[in-house]
Amino acid sequence: MGLKLFNTLSRSIQDFTPLDSTGKTVGMYCCGPTVYDFAHIGNWRTFVFADLVRRYLEFKGFSVTHVMNITDVEDKIIKRVRETKTSLREFTGKYEAAFFEDLKTLNCREPHHKPHATEHIADIIALIEKLVARGVAYKAADGSVYFSIEKYRGSGSTYGRLLKINFDELRPGERVKTDEYAKESVADFALWKARAPEDGDIFWPSPWGEGRPGWHIECSAMSMKILGQCFDLHLGGEDLIFPHHEDEIAQSEGATGQPFVKYWLHGAFLLVEGKKMSKSLGNFFTLRDLLAKGFTGREIRCLLLQAHYRETFNFTLEGLLGARTALARIDECVTKLRELAGGTAAVPNAELVNAFTIALENDLNISAAWGEIFKWVSKMNRSLADNAIMVAEAASALAAWERLDSVLGVGVISESEAPAELKALIIERQLARHAKNFKRADAIRDELKTKGWVIEDTPKGQRLKKI
Ligand SMILES: [Zn+2]
Repeated sequence: MGLKLFNTLSRSIQDFTPLDSTGKTVGMYCCGPTVYDFAHIGNWRTFVFADLVRRYLEFKGFSVTHVMNITDVEDKIIKRVRETKTSLREFTGKYEAAFFEDLKTLNCREPHHKPHATEHIADIIALIEKLVARGVAYKAADGSVYFSIEKYRGSGSTYGRLLKINFDELRPGERVKTDEYAKESVADFALWKARAPEDGDIFWPSPWGEGRPGWHIECSAMSMKILGQCFDLHLGGEDLIFPHHEDEIAQSEGATGQPFVKYWLHGAFLLVEGKKMSKSLGNFFTLRDLLAKGFTGREIRCLLLQAHYRETFNFTLEGLLGARTALARIDECVTKLRELAGGTAAVPNAELVNAFTIALENDLNISAAWGEIFKWVSKMNRSLADNAIMVAEAASALAAWERLDSVLGVGVISESEAPAELKALIIERQLARHAKNFKRADAIRDELKTKGWVIEDTPKGQRLKKI
């Protein structure tokens, strides 16, 4: 068995072989959030997909270096900073903190490196200087620096590696200053944007005058700085294929003359209630909107992990209820196995682990993996009902589930998911202790215990932990 992935670069499924000659380490870059608002559920599908890739590689024993940038300066951010009359750092800091909180709610492993664009201005400038020196970038009259598609193609390089582009319409020297544009308006794109009055005090000095970086160059500069000129995996949503990722390839390969990334992986779009998400249709959800409706991070993660990453997925509230039921079935089975195993150590059941692995080796076919899991849950439940499972077998099944859950990340019920009435009991117990009513405090502790929760004292106060 070996992992096979669909590489957007070759438009085909390929064997995954890391660049590292020892085959142990993997460099992985995933385009991170633009911190100007709360991330929506479509964004979260991409980050949960990236988490799946990382967790599965780690499951296979690779040592993964996961990098995710934070875009903390760009057109939309500057506009909002101006509107809200805050400072850049204050404004982006708020949304960045919310992003990492949400990432944790969805139980995504935290990236090892989280570079900020504003902290890598010198690296960005150095990369642009290289492109200018190699003749594929030029300074325009307004002080901005552009990447020349014509010069790049003239040097024998291909622009349009991820997406076929019709160059008949391209008029050499025509420029596009905004970071987002359509395939039809392919033109020289901005690497450095000269300071404009509306930028306020958001600018940096550069060899071309005051200004700020374009969005695409950030990712080229930061990914190569941390992972090297050539690395294994670059991930993102399919909406980033053009122009963002195409431009990243052009900038990086234009500067180094070497291949930039070996495998490009793209997650498909998300529809919500059958339609493209939009605020006017009322189907635009941030993670917080869904938590406010009473769903948990675990249920949302489970639903986002239902479909294959290259399939457009229809996210619905009914689907979330389905995920809740599915998790309850797993929980019931795992709880019973846990009771039976009683802490006995065992080797994971190979049959389940193998079936799961075979599914995921095939371009991360998660829906097939779920199929295997639910077949196993049904089988286990039947055997448990018939009292036909021995302790050793239960321990082995449990160990297998824990292996699987190191990839799925849905098995742990977190403290935040303790029912509200139980959380209220913690406060009541604190008040009882304060009033030296230890009898009541002990009664509450016992009540929580019978419901499967213990109170833990932590430096941040008391919290509930599932037994
Ligand atoms: Zn990027």
